[in-house]
Amino acid sequence: MVRDGYASVSHRGYTNHILEFDNCRLPDTQVLGEVDGGFDVMNTWLYATRLTVAAFCVGRARRCFDYAVQYAAERNQFGQPIAKFQGVSFQVADLITEIDAADWLTLSGAWRLDEGLPANREIASAKLYASEMLARVTDTTLQIHGGMGLMDDFPIERFWRDARVERIWDGTSEIQRHIISRDLFRPLGA
Ligand SMILES: Cc1cc2nc3c(=O)[nH]c(=O)nc-3n(C[C@H](O)[C@H](O)[C@H](O)COP(=O)(O)OP(=O)(O)OC[C@H]3O[C@@H](n4cnc5c(N)ncnc54)[C@H](O)[C@@H]3O)c2cc1C
Repeated sequence: MVRDGYASVSHRGYTNHILEFDNCRLPDTQVLGEVDGGFDVMNTWLYATRLTVAAFCVGRARRCFDYAVQYAAERNQFGQPIAKFQGVSFQVADLITEIDAADWLTLSGAWRLDEGLPANREIASAKLYASEMLARVTDTTLQIHGGMGLMDDFPIERFWRDARVERIWDGTSEIQRHIISRDLFRPLGA
């Protein structure tokens, strides 16, 4: 049975639905993998899909950043562009530094995957850092836009809303930290 899903603050562009399976019988031909082995199957590919989340975050952060730079250059307060205030320009410097760092982490994880090298920890780091970076970039961009940042005349409030889910889906930030730390400590028996 399919029921209507939930209304989400992030990614309003698509809807979700709830599937209910009650006394559902499947022929053997419809079974994917081993019965009760779904989690293992999922784990063979789930870590790689996190790269797509990281790449998506980097791309969206760059787009959002363009708005931050443009607005800071054009918005005048106290007789000059707000970009002339170090309080604003230093924030912009931090944003591009974080975006580039997330980009390189993502590329590095993708390269390891392409080379067939162990990449679980590196991809978890890319997803963790890129999704948390996007939160900071969208929030700071909104701040640079002042009150107008919250209005839907600008796309910033949507970037800000949509960024929220990236720290949750495909494994929350806490789960990424768990993956990273287990990768470091498991070989030491801790
Ligand atoms: C808009 C949206 C779309 C989604 N689309 C999909 C989709 O297409 N496919 C799909 O499979 N899933 C999808 N999800 C589900 C998403 O992957 C889960 O919400 C996410 O994995 C977190 O699981 P949960 O919501 O059950 O949180 P929970 O697991 O209940 O976690 C609740 C809190 O506890 C923390 N926590 C849980 N376990 C630990 C632990 N071991 N250590 C430390 N902290 C922990 C979490 O980090 C979180 O802060 C979607 C979710 C949303 C919001």
